[in-house]
Amino acid sequence: MNRSLRIALMNRSLRIALGSLLLAWVGARAAAQELGEPLCGDCQTTGRIHHEYNGKELELEAGATYCSVFMDREPDLLGLDWRVCPKCRTPSAQARARREFDEEYQLRAQWLKERREEVDKPAGASFEHIRTAHFQIAWDIPEIKVGRRVYRLHEAMHLYAERMEALYQQLLEIHGITERDVRSTVHRLYLVDRESTSRRVGNAVMDGGFANSYRKSLIGPGSKLLCYRNSKDFPRDEDFHEFLVHTVSHHLHNEIDQCNQWLAVRYGWVYEGLAHYLEIRNFGTPITWCSRETGGFQHWKGQNWEGNVKRAVIGGADPAFQDVIQKANDTLTPMEHQFAWSYIDYLMWLDPKKMPKLIGYMKGPQLPTRDALKKAYGLSIGQFVDGWKAFVLEEYSTKSVKGPRVRPPKDEQ
Ligand SMILES: [Zn+2]
Ligand SMILES: [Zn+2]
Ligand SMILES: [Zn+2]
Repeated sequence: MNRSLRIALMNRSLRIALGSLLLAWVGARAAAQELGEPLCGDCQTTGRIHHEYNGKELELEAGATYCSVFMDREPDLLGLDWRVCPKCRTPSAQARARREFDEEYQLRAQWLKERREEVDKPAGASFEHIRTAHFQIAWDIPEIKVGRRVYRLHEAMHLYAERMEALYQQLLEIHGITERDVRSTVHRLYLVDRESTSRRVGNAVMDGGFANSYRKSLIGPGSKLLCYRNSKDFPRDEDFHEFLVHTVSHHLHNEIDQCNQWLAVRYGWVYEGLAHYLEIRNFGTPITWCSRETGGFQHWKGQNWEGNVKRAVIGGADPAFQDVIQKANDTLTPMEHQFAWSYIDYLMWLDPKKMPKLIGYMKGPQLPTRDALKKAYGLSIGQFVDGWKAFVLEEYSTKSVKGPRVRPPKDEQ
């Protein structure tokens, strides 16, 4: 190829490149304004004017998809951080922004309307509502006190939304799974300040389901939990939080691998054991008792569960594993609750990543515990019992300890 031909070809490709750049530029301008339209200085020809919220408020809203309190601050925006350029000089940009605004605004308005029709209307009360990645919460508790700090309604609702999302993440982390391993529906929580409101909400939104004096629970698809916070059952905020960690963990564990109720009915020790495991890990001695017959919590031999279990094993007074594993969650005795927790504590120490497999074999094919243990952990019943006893003798202390108790898995110690 001679030199002049090379230059001609280079010039040609340069022209093509410049030409396409020019086309791209014209295209970009055409996206913002039609040919012949003026530019708009108010909105830089985007059709949108930014709306600045207070920075502290934005921080609070960071974890929420929707929040009714925030939406009500600017009813014509419902939480959006921009509005349509009102005197726009670029009609096409304004029209495009208007379409986008209406679409987003409608979604928000629809959410708010649905929440109020579902909860506020039948309850004859005014609730606030928050939507996060995995929870839909209705809240009317005017304030809570965490230590010495008072959280007013709006902040308190956000705090609980954050705590529930943190629990969700904790569950994934301790089991070494991802969101893909969970058949997640949105979990609806109705956290209510008064019994009378609670009754009306219950009648409106909870058909059937398991109830006791302060709580109604529907586990499975369309997961719902109604609870009214009363000072008798929950003297401190921490008690209410711990109760929700226990109870909501039932709803969440129920959706690992697949979604159904067999875990509670056939494998009560796994169902309650996992919930108590989370209580001890996050708070200390369990306080939550899922029983249909009685509301009160009874500690077999007192609050030091580790000590109680260890002393029973040393004295040969522990119940037979084969008996405990036959029971549904609501027929476990106070003593069996402590052993159910300890069996789970052992398996979570041995290998927490095998736990989702165990849960899967129990909920899916509903294998007998003997087979599920063998497939997930490679243990026979005899090996399980021997291993568990050795673990209790080695790991448990008879001294009573206050506060959360985190036991890292064997491989991480
Ligand atoms: Zn908010
Ligand atoms: Zn404009
Ligand atoms: Zn429970």
